This record gives sequence, structure tokens and C-alpha cells, in this order.
Amino acid sequence: MTKYSDTQLYIDGQWRDGSETRIPVLNPATGETIGTLAHAGRKDLDDALAAADRAFHKWKRTSAMERSQIMRRAAALIRERADAIATAMTMEQGKVFAEARVETLGGADTIEWFAEEARRTYGRIVPARAANITQLVFKEPVGPVAAFTPWNFPINQAVRKVSAALAAGCTVILKGPEETPASCAALVQAYADAGVPAGVVNLVFGVPSEVSSYLIPHPVIKKISFTGSTAIGKQLAALAGSHMKRVTMELGGHAPAIVFGDADVGLAVKLLAGAKFRNAGQVCIAPTRFIVHDSIYDRFVDDFVATTEKIKVGDGLSDGVRMGPLANSRRVEAMEALTADATAKGAKLRTGGERIGNRGNFFKPTVLTDVPLSARMMNEEPFGPVAAINRFSDYDSAVKEANRLPYGLASYAYTKAAKTISDLGRDIESGMLSVNHHGLGLAEVPFGGIKDSGYGSEGGSEAVEAYLNTKVVSQAV
Ligand code: NAD
Repeated sequence: MTKYSDTQLYIDGQWRDGSETRIPVLNPATGETIGTLAHAGRKDLDDALAAADRAFHKWKRTSAMERSQIMRRAAALIRERADAIATAMTMEQGKVFAEARVETLGGADTIEWFAEEARRTYGRIVPARAANITQLVFKEPVGPVAAFTPWNFPINQAVRKVSAALAAGCTVILKGPEETPASCAALVQAYADAGVPAGVVNLVFGVPSEVSSYLIPHPVIKKISFTGSTAIGKQLAALAGSHMKRVTMELGGHAPAIVFGDADVGLAVKLLAGAKFRNAGQVCIAPTRFIVHDSIYDRFVDDFVATTEKIKVGDGLSDGVRMGPLANSRRVEAMEALTADATAKGAKLRTGGERIGNRGNFFKPTVLTDVPLSARMMNEEPFGPVAAINRFSDYDSAVKEANRLPYGLASYAYTKAAKTISDLGRDIESGMLSVNHHGLGLAEVPFGGIKDSGYGSEGGSEAVEAYLNTKVVSQAV
């Protein structure tokens, strides 16, 4: 059996145990304990804060060129180690190995993108009103960052925050995901081996509420970045606001996917089913509310159900498996509850709807149709392998349904009509819209939501901007 390593804390350039008791890490495919995780106590957090503070004064003065070169080395190391990192990720998180590998290699791409952006944090000179005045605009790193990342993409969620922060010249305390720590730790190891100085990146694990309630108000921390549920995001944003800290919030979604009557139905089914069941649906930008035109509804549903039933579910390290277990037992219980609630309110269960066996967190890929808007499934982020397909008759009602919820992260649409595509770009209330393909989440394009899905971007040049302060120096000579 492949070895899975126990995970330690990384503080001030050293791997070490925490002052709290270690906790077990489970394989969601078997329920077995595969390793243990160090938990940080107050002393560990204080050490991380002191290290991040000390290191900031040097890292911000390290040239952008040098920061960029170090980051590029980290990207190369991730690529070299991709198979081992992806194996650990599948063992702790459950996603199939091929997806874990794509995520790991995508992490290297993200580091490289931000390494390039590090060299472009330009200021500017503003024309002055008098000849002897020079008005300079500088971009400066905000300071030490507290970053909180979840278990669904252990590398992807962390690499965006850490790399943007490093590119800007900030130091980071990363509170990684307790359920999936080893692959996140491998990311931190790559930064360390690449030459990121001690204290610039620190990794802690612990009781999330205890760590966040200590770090966010702490005077050393100048910026907060969180990825997770809207409910927790609101709590953390409120705490950060009461201490006037900069915030990026990447929260939940409930993405609509509108399939118009003129769409390429085969393409739509293939791409939407792939996106729906990727990572067993535990994806904040997963399509979840399928809004399908009357004229193609029956064909779309039949094809979607047939495609869904072909998905082989099993241990993500086994050949031919297309969907792994859910990452934790909470998600299985949530899928059972959402499906039962929807069918009790009149939805039709077309396939799936139950867990598989009693070992591991397996749940059948599930399709519900004719789901009443009062069902929990139509209002709460499902975060699992359940698709809800409903019909529409005209453009306005489809857009109304797409915009009905307070979420506004990702949206999808399939149509061949240029006017419809253009209208959707104007009418859909979300931070991201992808039409006729699934092109979101690349390092070079903005990634983020509006409304209850949060604010700030974790991709594109906006992502680095979130870690920079603007300073004006107006000088008379
Ligand atoms: P949860 O809401 O308790 O936790 C979500 C994430 O937030 C976890 O990583 C957790 O460690 C962290 N967290 C929780 N309380 C925290 C606190 N006080 N301070 C700092 N971090 C805290 O529940 P969960 O069961 O892990 O996930 C449930 C829901 O969270 C999912 O259904 C989904 O809606 C959402 N979620 C979203 C994303 C995303 O990519 N946006 C990722 C994971 C979970």
C-alpha cells in the first residue's frame, strides 16, 4: 500500500508537532485511519505570528525578480512530485487520481502565473498641477496574511492564496484543511525547498474557529482570505470588519446551467455531467440547477440520466473509476437529506438517491427532475453528486430562475444564438459565466463571486491587487 505521511505544522521554516493532541486522518474510501495530524495550540500560533511578522520585513524588500524566481522553482518541484502528491490527495480526499493530478499540476501553473505577476505590481506617476511637484503611486504588500482553506481542493484553494500573497511581498499563515492535510503540506514543502525563506509561509492546523478567532483580530495580521461556506464566511468577514482588516471571501455557490432550445444537446450533456460529478460534486462552481428549455427537455434528461448511470464509482486509486467517495460522512448525510426532502415535496428521482454500501462515503450520482423551488435542494448549496433538472419556456423565466438565489458565483449556458449569449453576459448575476464550454478557474482569469458568494478575486491580476496597499507620495523639489 502507498505510504501516507503524518502531517506536522510548518512554522518559521521548521516542521514540528503542535502543542495539542494529534488527530487522525481518514481515507474516505475505506473509513480507515491513514495518518495523523498535528494540531496547533496558542503557543504555536504565537510562534507563527512572530515568524510571519519578522519575515515580512525582509520578504517585502526581496526584489520582485528574486521572489518570482523562487516561486518558479516551487512550481517545478510540484510538477516533479505530482504523482506522489496526487496519490496522497486521493487517499485523504477521495477524488479520483486523474483529477488529483490535474489539480496538482494546475497548482504549478498557478504558482507560475503569480510568479509572473510578481514582476508587474506597477505603480504610476500622476501628472501634477505644478512643475516642481511629482506625484508617485506605489503598490506595497499589505502585510502578514491569515488564509483559511477547505478540504475539497486541498492544493488549489491554498495555492491561489499563498502564491498571490508571496507575489505581492506578503507573508502568510495558512490554516490548512484538517481533513486533507498531507497534499496541502506537500505544497508548502515545495515552497520551502524552492527557497522561500523561513517565516514567509507558515502552515497550521487546529480547531478552525479557535484559530480564526485568534488570528483575525491579531494586530500582526493585516489581511484575511477565506474559502468555505457562506455562513462561516459571513462570521469571519464580520470579525475582520470589526478590526478593519482587508478581506477576500470565496464562498458557496449554486450554479445555474441554462440549456436553450438551440443548444448542442450532446455537448451540453457531456460537459455538464462531467462538471457536475467532478470531485463528487464538491465544487463551489459545480453546475447544480439545470434549467432546460421545454423543446429539448425530455432528450436532455434522458441523455443526462444515461450518462450519469455510466459513471463508475469507487476508490479513486482504482483503474476506470470516474467518481470517488464524498470527502466526509457529513456530505453523505447531506445528500440523503436533500434527496429525501426533494422527493417528499414532489421531485422525481430519475437515478441514484442513495449511498453505496456501508464502507466509505460513497453516494450514487443522482438526478432529480421537476424539483419544486421550495425544496432545500433548490436553495441550499448541495456540494455533492446531486443534479436538479427543471424546465423553462422563455428567456426571461430562465434568467429569473438563474438569478433567484442570493448566491452569485458561477453560471453556465448552452446556446448557439449570438444575441442570447450577449444578453446573458449582461443579465446573469454572477462573478463568472461560461457559455458552450467550461472555462472557469484558470489562473489568468478572475475567480470570485458576488452577492452571498463573497467578494474579491482569486485569479487574474485582481488577485494580486487584493494583497497590495496603494500609497501616494507627493513630493516638491
Ligand atoms: P463548514 O461550513 O463548517 O466548513 C467549511 C470550511 O470552513 C472548512 O474548511 C472548515 O475548516 C472551515 N471553517 C469552519 N468554521 C470555521 C471558522 N470558525 N473559522 C475558520 N474556518 C472555519 O462545514 P463543512 O461540512 O466542512 O462544509 C460544508 C459546506 O461548506 C459545504 O456544503 C459547502 O457549502 C461549503 N464549502 C465550500 C467550499 C468552497 O469551495 N467554497 C469548500 C468547502 C466547503
